[in-house]
Amino acid sequence: MIEIEKVHKSFGQLKVLKGIDLRVAKGEVLSVIGGSGSGKSTLLTCINGLEPIDSGRILVDGTEVHAKSTDLNKLRRKIGIVFQQWNAFPHLTVVENVMLAQRKVLGRSKPEAEAEAVRQLSHVGLGDKLKVYPSRLSGGQQQRMAIARALAMSPHYMLFDEVTSALDPQLVGEVLDTLRMLAAEGMTMICVTHEMKFAREVSDRVAFFHKGVMAEIAAPAELFGAPKSEELRAFLSATH
Ligand code: ADP
Ligand code: MG
Repeated sequence: MIEIEKVHKSFGQLKVLKGIDLRVAKGEVLSVIGGSGSGKSTLLTCINGLEPIDSGRILVDGTEVHAKSTDLNKLRRKIGIVFQQWNAFPHLTVVENVMLAQRKVLGRSKPEAEAEAVRQLSHVGLGDKLKVYPSRLSGGQQQRMAIARALAMSPHYMLFDEVTSALDPQLVGEVLDTLRMLAAEGMTMICVTHEMKFAREVSDRVAFFHKGVMAEIAAPAELFGAPKSEELRAFLSATH
């Protein structure tokens, strides 16, 4: 479980997260929507300890992320994170790219890492691209490689930050289908997304962020069907 309690976070004078309270249960799929600059990406980077917080606390499986005593490297292994773009190593093949962190971070043997890479790449539909170089992949295939790379680390949680935003429209579907598949398999996921149809269809709950505040959180039918705040109504009418 991920527990976020009264989290405040600033960059200098700028208050970016203003008292976020949120729990994500095992197996839950949470989508996070909201305008640019509302703090969505910052929340994800705080969850895996990439960014410090000013106050409050974040617990992952009961371990406080920002406590001094926490082994952050160990904790981060539980949390896969995929961004808009991942710059794969161009001189390594797809399968070698997916093996690298397994070898370096988890200390897996070469055959072990390779078997897991092949397994995850096949799982995301790239079983026929193992030996090609990343530059030969489409944007959608590159994102699926990034997802396979994260999954190969055997994470308990997956965080996705606008993983389809940099893609040509015709490539968005294949990446969302991959996320759908993971959701159906029971992966615990937080998906920051602009794809309202995806959020509506795949999420257990949707959170709407506005200026550093989690202004609304509800099941998708309720959040999209009966938005409570003027801000969410305005956001939804602008994105539809
Ligand atoms: P979102 O992902 O919702 O678009 P972000 O979490 O990226 O929003 O950013 C929230 C605010 O924090 C923005 O105003 C952004 O410019 C600012 N910000 C984000 N990261 C940094 C940083 N590393 N240093 C300073 N300001 C930042
Ligand atoms: Mg962002």
